[in-house]
Amino acid sequence: MSTTSSLLSPSPRFWRDSPSSPWSASPSSNGDTATGSPPANGTDSGGTDDSSSRRSEPVAITTEGLGKSFGESVALRSIDLRVAPGELLALLGPSGSGKTTLLRLIAGLEEPTAGRILFGNEDATRVSVRRRRVGFVFQSYALFRNLTVAENIAYGLKVRPRAERPAATEIARRVEDLLELVQLTGLGKRRPAQLSGGQRQRVALARALAVEPRVLLLDEPFGALDAQVRRDLRRWLREIHDRTGHTTLFVTHDQEEALELADRVAILNKGALEQVGTPDDILDRPASAFVAGFVGGAVRLPVTVGGGALHVGDHRIALREPAASGPAALFVRPGDLVLAGDGEGAFEVRVANLRRSGSARRAELALGAGLPTVEIELPLTVTVRRGETLRVHLVHLRLFP
Ligand code: ATP
Repeated sequence: MSTTSSLLSPSPRFWRDSPSSPWSASPSSNGDTATGSPPANGTDSGGTDDSSSRRSEPVAITTEGLGKSFGESVALRSIDLRVAPGELLALLGPSGSGKTTLLRLIAGLEEPTAGRILFGNEDATRVSVRRRRVGFVFQSYALFRNLTVAENIAYGLKVRPRAERPAATEIARRVEDLLELVQLTGLGKRRPAQLSGGQRQRVALARALAVEPRVLLLDEPFGALDAQVRRDLRRWLREIHDRTGHTTLFVTHDQEEALELADRVAILNKGALEQVGTPDDILDRPASAFVAGFVGGAVRLPVTVGGGALHVGDHRIALREPAASGPAALFVRPGDLVLAGDGEGAFEVRVANLRRSGSARRAELALGAGLPTVEIELPLTVTVRRGETLRVHLVHLRLFP
């Protein structure tokens, strides 16, 4: 597997402006029509004419009241989502929350039971998979084992009806361009079995891009790869996205991946959208108790609010802002607690455990019987011992009635 530096090495070409760019759109793929009628010249890539007039413009994806049931079971309920042209949006949520179903509906692999899907201003709800022109990358590479890398990439073009199929020389040129883009130049003659997992997934992306998709849909594309390769490919995908500018939807259950990679993140829970926002919105301004508990490694504590303070077990934490009285849920992340002096709002906790975490130390703090421990991150210069009592201060209040 390549290292990060080789994955991120700059491509010699500025792809979006290249006349030979694989996503220089044909008349049938520039977003003007969802039906993708064959171009007048009989090919779908053109060759030497003005490339700027053929360049693919990113298209918005909109879902309106989109719903899907499988018999009695509701997988998605009334999803209103807009992915801006050229945006990279991650769909994040727990297992069974509906991420894959939403992606498959947008791809045309499933039919909705309610609502509609727009590509730009066009209603794509009943448009066939092929005519939607989506590029799809699955977790399992789904490459043809008996075909070479180059043949795999060319596959979607070669199976087109004759009138829409580019000439063989044009297909070969596009494959070479794509191999260069995914940094696999020279490996076109290999079989998938002769590649690493990360390389196979790059072939899968090249294959998805070969058909000049109007949107790119990725379903856990790095799910089967080990952590380091995942991290490398994540940065690489972001770079490819910035260079090609496709509107991209990306399914993951890995929040680090979603928050690091995406322009915005849509959080799904039980078939409904909980929040759509930038990584900062999601982390700093969670819209619901579910989001507050789902991201950022938060611990949920049952608390009671009253008398200008919140009560957790035997602890009383003075509140600086008013909050509605009554039972509530407090979400505490490791960065939410700091060591405190004797000031207002500080409270005492016992160190239950200590562990090293990168360049800091994490102390697990016991709040009392029946309550989960919370963590505080301490610089290595601070010496603490297990069993010791610390005075801490809550600097972020994530409180949901
Ligand atoms: P995971 O992260 O585990 O892949 P997900 O968020 O992608 O989960 P979906 O695969 O979209 O979730 O499934 C959403 C719900 O719809 C689940 O309850 C699932 O069991 C149900 N479901 C999905 N596909 C079908 C199907 N073909 N028939 C019946 N139920 C289905």
